Amino acid sequence: MKLQVQPKLIIHGGAGSSLHGKGGVEAVRRALYAIVEEVYSLLLAGATASEAVVRGCQLLEDEPRFNAGTGSVLQSDGQIRMSASLMDGTLGRFSGVINVSRVKNPIELALFLQSSPDRVLSDYGSAELARELQVPSYNALTELRLQEWIQERQDNFKSTMAGVVAEPELVETSNAGRGTIGVVALDTYGNLASGTSTGGKGFERIGRVSDSAMPAGNYATQYAAVSCTGIGEDIIDECLAPKIVVRVTDGMSLKEAMQRSFAEAHKNERDLGAIALDASGNIAWGKTSEVILAAYHNGEYMGDTLELPTDTEVGCISIG
Ligand code: ASP
Repeated sequence: MKLQVQPKLIIHGGAGSSLHGKGGVEAVRRALYAIVEEVYSLLLAGATASEAVVRGCQLLEDEPRFNAGTGSVLQSDGQIRMSASLMDGTLGRFSGVINVSRVKNPIELALFLQSSPDRVLSDYGSAELARELQVPSYNALTELRLQEWIQERQDNFKSTMAGVVAEPELVETSNAGRGTIGVVALDTYGNLASGTSTGGKGFERIGRVSDSAMPAGNYATQYAAVSCTGIGEDIIDECLAPKIVVRVTDGMSLKEAMQRSFAEAHKNERDLGAIALDASGNIAWGKTSEVILAAYHNGEYMGDTLELPTDTEVGCISIG
């Protein structure tokens, strides 16, 4: 197939404080690279940005290490409620589900809602939709997340968030960060799309709404696309994804838009991260937290952000 535009891809598995054992880093890297490889080959074969984003989100949701789909963290009442959204930059269309339970891949519901007149559904409506679509009932609970919750209950829920990735050693030392997932793609036709999926912050109050199914945490136009992770309240207060996208849409370079937006977030003492692409194929990531677990394919090679100095705030892989 003749490529019109060189596809680009960046994915994330959350942001937070540094990964514990080296084993953790290598395992996370392997998991992220396997998904980047599979999704990038779809883009090379002509998949649209939205198709690639949905596939990437499904694969990340299915990886129990990350806090989305299987392996989602538990809320304060011990239940899993997941949120996911998809934004097609070319159509300028956002869709999502908020606090859905007992489905394997929340991003699939977000995909279905792309062509529905009602595009964002909350808990009850999402459950009705899943039933209508005959999505099989699925228990996303993993043993590690259950142990993490039991530990937290013993500690009276003093952690602000659950662990960045589900690792046995993290169960003893929880509050290591988060593990929401996100995918941003530029396809060979020049379209951008972004998707984000989460089990939430972990241990939160029932009914709390995550940024992941709001434009604040997931936004795309034909000029730029962004997926965020970190403390949802901080992402909402910064209105992070649209802020970066609008800056690029208004003519700022992606690198500068990221630098400005993260300098503001830093000043406001936010705890968050984001991955981004622009229509020219520039790839970027940013964080105020210690780490962001991101990996990308720029058409020539794969790279990641797992072992950067913790004070590096923004990175941009520019096209030549
Ligand atoms: N942003 C997500 C939330 O607050 C959590 C995360 O990114 O890990 O629900």
